[in-house]
Amino acid sequence: MPEGPEIRRAADKLEQAVAGKPLTYVWFAFPELKPFETALTGERVERLETRGKALLTHFSNGLTLYSHNQLYGVWRVVKAGETPQTTRSLRVRLETEDAAVLLYSASDIVMLDADGVAGHAFLQRVGPDVLDMTLTVDDVKARLLSPRFRRRQFSGLLLDQAFLAGLGNYLRVEILWQAQLAPRHKAAELTEPQLDALAGACLTIPRLSYQTRGLVNENKHHGALFRFEVFHRAGKRCRRCGELIEKTTLSSRPFYWCPGCQK
Ligand SMILES: [Zn+2]
Repeated sequence: MPEGPEIRRAADKLEQAVAGKPLTYVWFAFPELKPFETALTGERVERLETRGKALLTHFSNGLTLYSHNQLYGVWRVVKAGETPQTTRSLRVRLETEDAAVLLYSASDIVMLDADGVAGHAFLQRVGPDVLDMTLTVDDVKARLLSPRFRRRQFSGLLLDQAFLAGLGNYLRVEILWQAQLAPRHKAAELTEPQLDALAGACLTIPRLSYQTRGLVNENKHHGALFRFEVFHRAGKRCRRCGELIEKTTLSSRPFYWCPGCQK
């Protein structure tokens, strides 16, 4: 399952392909979206917002296309006029003079105005996205200490999109390693420095992954690169304390941690 950084990077590619240019051709498969084909032609995609696994395509006329890929939905970028050979069902085509973005197989697609975005059931449930750069460490700390989340164990809390959107399993284990915390803890039990470390890691780890995961040439990048410290490293030595990394299952997902330095 893709996590926030991978979803945001995919959204960046779509944005780079079509944002800011007038739409020359708009096509929707679903009958209820057909009226928007004409309304959106000549308008622009202004930006793509990710909220967990939901994607919000904001148009210059104030409308927003909400799409959730579930398990099967996939976006592709192609040249203008090009239609790839595929057995997938095309659901959305947004085309400019140079490029088109195509959404296949997704079924959860609706057009919303601003009130519709504010009132959308999934968007109301999902928490702030860790790759929303306006989200601060203080915001995350306040969320950790809120009555709703302060007594939840981190093993489950960090997978709950209602807490923070964009976190998934590899981020969960890397955040807890970074904050030197065992997964059984709850925010209500932490000291102030531990809370600061956890709230900080909830943002720095996904953002570092988004910016640098997969980059290999360290000479070209100044500053830290994302790398796994515990994820898929069972039996290897912890780079912080030298203990062996362990693996178990928590909240139905593989969990990796260092018994030496995560207390
Ligand atoms: Zn360690």
